[in-house]
Amino acid sequence: MKGWFDRAIGAPGTVSFDRFQAAVDDARTLEPWARALSDAELRPAARAAVLHGDQASGRTAGAGLLAVLRTAAERTLGQRPFDQQMLACCALISGHAIELDTGEGKTLVGAMAAAAYALAGRRVHVLTVNDYLARRDAEWMRPLYAALGMSSGCVGQDTPHGERRQLYRADIVHAPVSEIGYDVLRDRFVTTAGARVAPAQDVAIVDEADAVMIDEAMSPLVLAGTAPAATGNVALADQLVQTLRAGEHYTVDDDHATVSLTDAGIDALEWRLGGVNLYDAAQAETLTRINLALHAHVLIVRDVDYLVQDGEVILISAARGRVAEHQRWPDGLHAAIEQKEHLALSSPGMVLDNLTVQDLLRGYATVVGMSGTVLPVAEELSEFYGLSSGRVPRRLPNRRVDLPQRVFLDDESRTQALVAEVQERHRTGQPILVGTQSVAESERVAARLTGIGLEVDVLNARNDAAEASVISAAGEFGSITISTQMSGRGTDIRLGGADERDHDRVARAGGLAVLQVGRYPSQRLDAQLRGRSGRQGDPGVAVTFTSLDDELVLTHAPAYLMTKATRQDGAADTHALGAVVDAAQRIAEGARRDRHRDTWDFSRAIARQRHTVLAERDEVMRGEHVREQLGSRIPTQLKALTAATSVQTVDDAAREVILWCLDDAWSDHLAQLGEIRDGIHLQALAGLSPRDEFHRITLRRFEGFFDTVYDRAAGILRTITAAQLTAGGAALGMRRPSATWTYMVRENPFGGSLERGARTAGRWFRSRVLGIE
Ligand code: ADP
Ligand code: MG
Repeated sequence: MKGWFDRAIGAPGTVSFDRFQAAVDDARTLEPWARALSDAELRPAARAAVLHGDQASGRTAGAGLLAVLRTAAERTLGQRPFDQQMLACCALISGHAIELDTGEGKTLVGAMAAAAYALAGRRVHVLTVNDYLARRDAEWMRPLYAALGMSSGCVGQDTPHGERRQLYRADIVHAPVSEIGYDVLRDRFVTTAGARVAPAQDVAIVDEADAVMIDEAMSPLVLAGTAPAATGNVALADQLVQTLRAGEHYTVDDDHATVSLTDAGIDALEWRLGGVNLYDAAQAETLTRINLALHAHVLIVRDVDYLVQDGEVILISAARGRVAEHQRWPDGLHAAIEQKEHLALSSPGMVLDNLTVQDLLRGYATVVGMSGTVLPVAEELSEFYGLSSGRVPRRLPNRRVDLPQRVFLDDESRTQALVAEVQERHRTGQPILVGTQSVAESERVAARLTGIGLEVDVLNARNDAAEASVISAAGEFGSITISTQMSGRGTDIRLGGADERDHDRVARAGGLAVLQVGRYPSQRLDAQLRGRSGRQGDPGVAVTFTSLDDELVLTHAPAYLMTKATRQDGAADTHALGAVVDAAQRIAEGARRDRHRDTWDFSRAIARQRHTVLAERDEVMRGEHVREQLGSRIPTQLKALTAATSVQTVDDAAREVILWCLDDAWSDHLAQLGEIRDGIHLQALAGLSPRDEFHRITLRRFEGFFDTVYDRAAGILRTITAAQLTAGGAALGMRRPSATWTYMVRENPFGGSLERGARTAGRWFRSRVLGIE
């Protein structure tokens, strides 16, 4: 009822694309004209259509361009874009987010839109969720771009740094969103403008838009560099926390996001440490280590959050259920996990800067997006990106049957029912895709199925290309595939195998059956998994097996509904239980939305200051402020150095010193803010608004930031000799990080001990709450 009403009057953030229909219709009539164009005439015709509209032909604006795009696609890729794809392309060109079901051909839609923007002289990034998809799409669509006279390229994890600058000059660049983010971050730390790789942030076309722009929006891309070794006894903290008991010595919050020591826990630890006061300044380091160890043991789960491979901790991205390469947890936590697993501790680092995906995307002049599930997040896309969303209809009706969810009292009865269902469907040869919540769960399910002699393929956190080849075979007769939420996303599951040779037999067997184990944290993610079945009018079936033991239900189900549902002699009322699960999912979704807003709000405050710092940094790099700032602080020293060397030598060295001081100060400032943010929830206890308080402290800490930087730079230069000056930075005791890497940080504004690394949480607590510095 609500769905119909919302659609009729337009839900917040949504638009109708009906108005593009005329252009699509006219494009059809112009097709003979476009087809008559020679290869060489395609680009000029497309350019003319972009520059002059279609006044000459008397057609609807855009129709001529659409006709040329369609012809170019047909000629180069052998696929004639359907009307629905043309409509979707129109919507992207007009700056919208589009919802178009899985398998309807969004890759081609995005490429046509990219071409259209590029024809208008814009620089385009087509952003995907992983390397594999970026490369696949770039190669697949290159002939189309080339036919329209456009250069294109792909930047991935393996692209050498030295090639990136050149690649970013292309009209159209395909890349995973994180790779662009890291290049933007690294570019902030160059010391000469020429060292930048400079990705142009003009037009971004985001594939799997809901995953990137909403689910991953607040995951910060963090750039870190080598730092002096951290002190502190990681092993001792690890041993200590293993003596603590849940509930008594520490508590975990409802969201499973933070764990805190209780007074009894503090007492027990203090006693074990021989009667120290853990809140004593001298113990701050120990307390931090203990908190980190506790976090590592209680909240971070092996095979769910990370894998151990070749003696290393390899992270699994929570939102995607796949490995996150070149990523670590912030140092203290990473070391705590290594200790927990009895691995050698890797060398520590310091955070140089960070950037959320949302901030990155907002840096583009134009952002548009596409996905099979966009409308459920239309309101957020509008709020955070000023983007309005609409749905493009499917070409063929959906023939997938979605069965009512099945609810079980516990995990074991659910698994038995699931196994029985797999067995029964498998007997007929129907291909089956089992969607699970985590890597660990997919392995458990796989073990049960192989235990009864079935052959299964497990998709989890391996490399993207291997996943793609497995998932593309998931529609073969008799195949059973087990996946996590994002694994294999973006790859087509065709009935009868990748070449569809066996399509009709599989269709007769009922098409792909999607069996979902437990509900995801939002209806949208459930829909995304179901959407793997029933592509392009194929038959299919989807059913969810939920258990009251599921994490989602345990964490979010309202207790009063739970008791109501299980009232009669412990027997379950399936309908009522279903309502409990639905409610738990709605609550989880609401919690995620609130967290997104909170985190965004915190990151805004920091972003404004970063903006100021980067602007100043740019000016320093161009040589401004150097003489002026230092001249007023150390005039005689500057004159002496210049006389002994040259103006150029002194200017270069001074610039380097200032940049080094600036970067170091910013890194330090970020660490302090992280610490404050971690502790800020305590303000709520004192009746203050955490947000207002955070903004207030952030501002105060930033006062005099630049003066401190220039004072420090002057201090370094004041004491050096002409010989040291010519010897360069290392002689001045400034070491730039020799290597950088990136961190995985969970969005967690009020959360525990994540960002502070070797710095102390106690420091904030002491200075703000106890009033001692
Ligand atoms: P989506 O991203 O929407 O899930 P893809 O872009 O992966 O879909 O395309 C799904 C499949 O449809 C691909 O195999 C592609 O080759 C095919 N396809 C897309 N557009 C057309 C078309 N116009 N004609 C024929 N096949 C198409
Ligand atoms: Mg796709």
